[in-house]
Amino acid sequence: MAGIRCIEEILKLNRQMFEIVIFGSEPHPNYNRILLSSVLQGETSLDDITLNSKDWYAANGITLYTGETVVHIDTDRQRVITDRKRTLPYDKFIVATGSSPHILPIPGADKEGVYGFRTIEDCQALMSMAKHNQKAAVIGAGLLGLEAAVGLQHLGMDVSVIHHSAGIMQKQLDQTASRLLQADLERKGLTFHLEKETVSISGTVQADGIQIKDGTSLKADLIVMAAGVRPNIELAVSSGIAVNRGIIVNDCMQTSEPNVYAVGECAEHNGTVYGLVSPLYEQGKVLAKHICGVPCEGYQGSAPFAALKIAGIDVWSAGKVHEDDRTTSISIRDEQAGIYKKALFEDDRLAGVILYGDTRDKRRFLDSLLTQRDISIVKKQLFAPEKTDTSFKSMPSSETICQCNSVTKGAIEEAVHTKDLTTVEEVKHCTKASGSCGGCKPLVEDLLRYMSSGEYTEPAGTPSFCGCTDFTEDDIIAELQRKPFTTPAEVMNQLGWKTKNGCRKCVPAIQYYLEMLYPGFIQPEPAAEDTCTLIPQMYGGRTNAEQLRNIADIIETYSIPDVSITHSQRLKLSGIRPADLPHIKNDLKIPAHSNEHRRTLQSIRACTCGQNRSIQQLAAKIERHLETLSMPACISISLSCEADCTAAAIQDVGAIRTPAGWDIYIGGVRRTHAGALFCVTDTAESTVRMIKGLIQYYRETAHYEEAVHQWMDRVGIVNIREVLFEEDLRIHLLENLKTDLSLIQKLPLKTGAHKKG
Ligand SMILES: Cc1cc2nc3c(=O)[nH]c(=O)nc-3n(C[C@H](O)[C@H](O)[C@H](O)COP(=O)(O)OP(=O)(O)OC[C@H]3O[C@@H](n4cnc5c(N)ncnc54)[C@H](O)[C@@H]3O)c2cc1C
Repeated sequence: MAGIRCIEEILKLNRQMFEIVIFGSEPHPNYNRILLSSVLQGETSLDDITLNSKDWYAANGITLYTGETVVHIDTDRQRVITDRKRTLPYDKFIVATGSSPHILPIPGADKEGVYGFRTIEDCQALMSMAKHNQKAAVIGAGLLGLEAAVGLQHLGMDVSVIHHSAGIMQKQLDQTASRLLQADLERKGLTFHLEKETVSISGTVQADGIQIKDGTSLKADLIVMAAGVRPNIELAVSSGIAVNRGIIVNDCMQTSEPNVYAVGECAEHNGTVYGLVSPLYEQGKVLAKHICGVPCEGYQGSAPFAALKIAGIDVWSAGKVHEDDRTTSISIRDEQAGIYKKALFEDDRLAGVILYGDTRDKRRFLDSLLTQRDISIVKKQLFAPEKTDTSFKSMPSSETICQCNSVTKGAIEEAVHTKDLTTVEEVKHCTKASGSCGGCKPLVEDLLRYMSSGEYTEPAGTPSFCGCTDFTEDDIIAELQRKPFTTPAEVMNQLGWKTKNGCRKCVPAIQYYLEMLYPGFIQPEPAAEDTCTLIPQMYGGRTNAEQLRNIADIIETYSIPDVSITHSQRLKLSGIRPADLPHIKNDLKIPAHSNEHRRTLQSIRACTCGQNRSIQQLAAKIERHLETLSMPACISISLSCEADCTAAAIQDVGAIRTPAGWDIYIGGVRRTHAGALFCVTDTAESTVRMIKGLIQYYRETAHYEEAVHQWMDRVGIVNIREVLFEEDLRIHLLENLKTDLSLIQKLPLKTGAHKKG
């Protein structure tokens, strides 16, 4: 698969540059090995898995020798020798010999009825054996072993899986996901024997069972060894090329011999041998560029990811899956729905993900893993699962649909438009999307359906953020995460803003995102010619004679022209000269909020009717916790009693005191509509925690200037509840809030930038 992909890339770059000859040990032109699992499971036929027919080779002027093995590379004379005694000179030689199943070196392993699972012939043999036999044993519960086991079961066999570890697919899954998968497969009828070591295979000529180290045995007429693969390096070894586990290559996929290259499962790059097609295709691309003389960064390694191809079971993982000293993790578990999701983080970056039961977000996670974006965006993705019905509308054109072949949504759209494609097969033929593991086939189908629906809008429809730039809002966030910018001016300068100083829309947005990404970033003070507004903080809406007298003196001393009472029961001093601001703040002796262009939570409205001291105290407490934080948009919070005043129900966030505790509402709009009842809490403490968690989740996931009700409509109240009701996630949000606050509180009072971490 890797070798021919590399040839395809070479043909794309320069059709005339090489006369190409290909040798393959197997008697077929290249085929999609990945789909052998689907063939066994009855979902695909062997006729459908050829990747390039013999006609394709002929049409591209390639000489193909099938069933012919290269046995020696004479690197001194630059020629190869095959098992049919053919000798051929070369200028460049590519080794893409793949791997072979590891057949355990145990007595009986050579008996009839013992197979690996790698080739069309293996697959045909398993299908034919299944017709006449009943009991099968699969040794190894990795990805391949499980797919083979389900395939044999599909063919009517009674299948046992023997595995040396305590958990199945332990390389790709943690214990929880592994147990969930085992339970699902047991429900499908597989039997597992874990922590068992196979020591021999019994039978005369034909295998009839296996012996286990603990003295037990199992009956089986068909045995599949799925205990890993070994890179095919013999050719390299016999030709004097440096090897380790695989054939050692540099970033250009060059071996120790200058004109000999290696790609695919036989190659070892930086100590890693990859066993999935996506990295191998990347290697092919790099090598093609290198030997065609196209400038290229070189192969930089790949993040491993894996999906199990078993109908009805959705499991996907990428990167690290086991915790260690350097990682932190977040997980969600919904037992009823059979969903488990875990993300591992390392130094504020995503290090790995496991998705079980719902793998719809895999593309975005993989994207975060590959681009190593900042944790806040990663969290956003973890917490806000994509809504399937609207996903294509909001999905950027650059998002990858087919991970194996790196085909983006934009590439599919373009192919559909320019070549008038209507079916998945046509898209596959044209773009290769869904042409490898087939995991994205449903997504391609959905995209085609969406494109033919009335809802579809032309590609490149994502508007730029404002007239000052061609970047979209998401592009800007991604750039801010990538580079350590310190000021909006620097952002505008380096990202090629069309205007010198930005505009009213982009400048505050950049400031906001800089502060969200780097809580140490301080917003600039207002320009000298502006007048300022100051709202003295009165926690819980309470004040006293001394404070009021002092404020009155200040109003007179500094000739403050405009004093009013705000909606949330505070005094607002407007028209202050910027030069007076520091002195006034000093004279006030209580905190005060001044920057109108920076959205912070300034005050919480507390009900003043009746004897509601406790409500005011609670409001004061929440204010003290949240008052310096930047918010995506202005936010109103209110606490009220149930008796005379239910104002809290029409705020962005509100809590109404009831005999049983507190009813928390979100997404209300003053004078227009009440918010939705979000939850009921029983104590003041749990109310504070819930409101703080809500606010932090809003801060982490809302766009700039997105009001709470708009945010709620976009991400969905169910999703917000799922996050806030999950204790681990709520604690995580509260910890993030604490960190953000501590970074802000540590700041010196001057304009500048302080990077988090
Ligand atoms: C059943 C199954 C399911 C899989 N599922 C997935 C999946 O879901 N996702 C995924 O990413 N990957 C999957 N894989 C793995 C994927 O198929 C391999 O990573 C990929 O095929 C490796 O490509 P390659 O070109 O390195 O090796 P191969 O595809 O094995 O090709 C190497 C070829 O070289 C030939 N050869 C070897 N030595 C010589 C020689 N000296 N002379 C001439 N020819 C030689 C071999 O016979 C073979 O035909 C699966 C594999 C199997 C078997």
